[in-house]
Amino acid sequence: MEKNKVYKNVSLIKFNSWKVGGKAENFVICSDINFLRRLIKNKEVYQPIKFIGLGSNILVRDKGLKGTTVVMHKGLNDFHKQGELFYSEAGLSCSKFSKMIAKEGYLGSAFLSGIPGTIGGALAMNAGCYGSEIWSFVKKLKMISAEGELIERNINDFEVGYRKIKKKYDAENFVGAWFSFPKGKKEKAEEEIKKLLAHRKNTQPLNWPTAGSTFKNPDNNYAAKLIEDCGLKGFKIGDAKVSEQHANFIINLGAAKAKDIEDLINHIKKIVLKEKKIKLIPEVEIIGNI
Ligand SMILES: Cc1cc2nc3c(=O)[nH]c(=O)nc-3n(C[C@H](O)[C@H](O)[C@H](O)COP(=O)(O)OP(=O)(O)OC[C@H]3O[C@@H](n4cnc5c(N)ncnc54)[C@H](O)[C@@H]3O)c2cc1C
Repeated sequence: MEKNKVYKNVSLIKFNSWKVGGKAENFVICSDINFLRRLIKNKEVYQPIKFIGLGSNILVRDKGLKGTTVVMHKGLNDFHKQGELFYSEAGLSCSKFSKMIAKEGYLGSAFLSGIPGTIGGALAMNAGCYGSEIWSFVKKLKMISAEGELIERNINDFEVGYRKIKKKYDAENFVGAWFSFPKGKKEKAEEEIKKLLAHRKNTQPLNWPTAGSTFKNPDNNYAAKLIEDCGLKGFKIGDAKVSEQHANFIINLGAAKAKDIEDLINHIKKIVLKEKKIKLIPEVEIIGNI
């Protein structure tokens, strides 16, 4: 499939980590932001426009997505140092970003090394783990407006929460960001990445299609523990199954439909509410036509 070209009715199965879902009505793989700006300005793309990265935190419904889906991760991955800041475009993978920061001899990016998404997706979700979150390191943002203009924003234009961001200018999307990390020793930074990747491998079902943690952790509690305590480990709907290894992960055994996963999410919510009186909130974003 060529980059910077608009296609019609493209299956999104290959573009999300659960490997499910319907078709995008219009679909662009963007590697040139000026191409996208022209499309928007000339009204050659259909609204709404949905930006996606590696699709590792979305559940695309089987009936697909209206409007235009823009995939950012095959290009738009410039990374460079600018003074004491690092600039990264939104399409760069978190894993490459983390490794490049470490290689430059800066500390604190290791938590991103095992997150299988893009910088754009991580900014949109305030991705984090092991006590760190990406927005703690953000200094400035480059956005694209609904009119196709490129605009720089500062962090006060965003409300940052646990796995959520509220933008002051809602219709804008992330093109890139400037980050600051503390200076340290390259060896220490690279060692930290190795340690966290090994820990992840031992605790998460990384060989199956998943979207990572399905639910946010409630205050002072863990979604995985609540789900396990309700006896739901291994519970299946169709080919969607609660992982035996990590109860907050839903795995696709092969032929799951998005509906199976959504039904399983609703079932888990219902049981945990009934048994534990706690309302689980999905961390994954469920998108698409009903
Ligand atoms: C095995 C596994 C482990 C995971 N572990 C973690 C973890 O430890 N911590 C964690 O936080 N998450 C984790 N995740 C979830 C996921 O990887 C992160 O949320 C990641 O940041 C999503 O990035 P993405 O590029 O895949 O975004 P997508 O899933 O493509 O999109 C997610 C959201 O971001 C929006 N978005 C994407 N790009 C842009 C853009 N350029 N501008 C505006 N909006 C945009 C999308 O519209 C959507 O709303 C895990 C997932 C998996 C599969």
